Amino acid sequence: MKKVRLRYAPSPTGFLHIGNTRTALMNYLFAKHYEGDFIVRIEDTDFERNVDGAIESQFENMDWLGIFPDESFLKPIEKYGEYMQSKKLDKYLNIADLLIEKDLAYKCYCTKEELEESRQKQLDNNIQAPRYDRHCWINREKLKDCKKEYNIRFKVPDNKEYIVNDLIRGEIKFNSKEIGDFVIVKSNKIATYNFAVVIDDIDMQITHVLRGEEHISNTPKQLMIYEALNEKEPVFGHMTLIVDETKKKLSKRSGNELFFITEYRKKGYLPEALFNFISLLGWSPKEEKEIFSKEDLVKIFDDKRFSKSPSTFDIGKLKWINSQWMKKMDDQKYVNFVKKFIDVKKYDYLTKDSEWLNEILLLYKKELDYGIQINDHLDLFFGDNQLKQFDVLKNIDNWKEVVNEFKNMLVAIEDFTSENIKTTITEVGKKLSIKGMSLFMPIRIASTNYEHGPELAKVINLIGKEKTIKNIESLLGNN
Ligand code: GLU
Repeated sequence: MKKVRLRYAPSPTGFLHIGNTRTALMNYLFAKHYEGDFIVRIEDTDFERNVDGAIESQFENMDWLGIFPDESFLKPIEKYGEYMQSKKLDKYLNIADLLIEKDLAYKCYCTKEELEESRQKQLDNNIQAPRYDRHCWINREKLKDCKKEYNIRFKVPDNKEYIVNDLIRGEIKFNSKEIGDFVIVKSNKIATYNFAVVIDDIDMQITHVLRGEEHISNTPKQLMIYEALNEKEPVFGHMTLIVDETKKKLSKRSGNELFFITEYRKKGYLPEALFNFISLLGWSPKEEKEIFSKEDLVKIFDDKRFSKSPSTFDIGKLKWINSQWMKKMDDQKYVNFVKKFIDVKKYDYLTKDSEWLNEILLLYKKELDYGIQINDHLDLFFGDNQLKQFDVLKNIDNWKEVVNEFKNMLVAIEDFTSENIKTTITEVGKKLSIKGMSLFMPIRIASTNYEHGPELAKVINLIGKEKTIKNIESLLGNN
């Protein structure tokens, strides 16, 4: 079997975000599943829209996620040509000139105003989708020696059916009647996307093109160019939209989700978790489970299992997947990871005993969805407690008695260990004949100023005896 070759072809008009990551990741999985090549090509011919730093962002974040290209402009293979379109402008122009020679394309001298006038006329005549009226093709003899600036237009074959056998959507038919002669090289001599993309995919021997559904309408134009160049087209697959909770296409403006990969990195999401989560956007495995490593995904990837309906970006699911990946981390690795997210302006952790700090961090290993959330728990250990109101206490009649008893026993503990604290709590329960929530809740609130948290005896141990007693006294003093 021929080696599969897939590519991710970002335009450097922005940074790596959830949408284009999904495209990169699926092309990567497809290529790796079939032991093929994954290529990154930069489509940078729309100079005005290029953004500084976009290419770096694409590569840096893909690298972080573990989406490693086999080839790119950083790792080129000569026979496949340049990996950046801005370096191929002459080539595109030469091929367009060849198409002109064969009457498959032509020079168009129409100005913007003339095009607009023709469009308006068609609209006035009730033509719903106006197209270029072929003025410059019809008058090509007369215009032969014209010295004005020109675009090069592709001459769309008349009334011909083009069929895309889409890997995801099945057969999609287009009639060329619906498509006007489109520009392949602009007057500034720069090729347009639909033209350059085909030449590159041919040069790079791309076998499969997996991309977003916004490119479906471009596909018949690209098929025409393959035909004009006498080349076979790759297999196309158009993935469905990723939508937000309002069912709109996920974007920078989507309410509850972050959009750019760097934002997730800053919050303390793990690359394994994002990789795992994004692989399930518009694709699903046979198995019911949801936690998969990159290696698992490469193995189980199946190009027949893309979804035909839009996939909703569920931030709750991402948080859950991330928490699962955090739990799987080895303790030392987790501690090193989460430490990086401590707000150093607020918590000067470097001056503290590191064993103590590591234990605190480990205590929350099972509680966090992502790294930066650690800061929600540190006041308890680092600062002075801000007393809060706890309505639950109103429903526990003798909570003060419980707390007082606990305090008295706590004072008497000589060896302040989690074990001894645990025994003390049990003894309070026995003495007052209570258990469960009526026992634990007052003690937890009074000692930690939180209603919930990890194992109580361990938290109290790490807060320390003196501070715990201070916390208890300040709650009692205020009630
Ligand atoms: N440069 C195009 C984009 O960013 C890629 C389209 C394609 O994959 O053909 O949308």
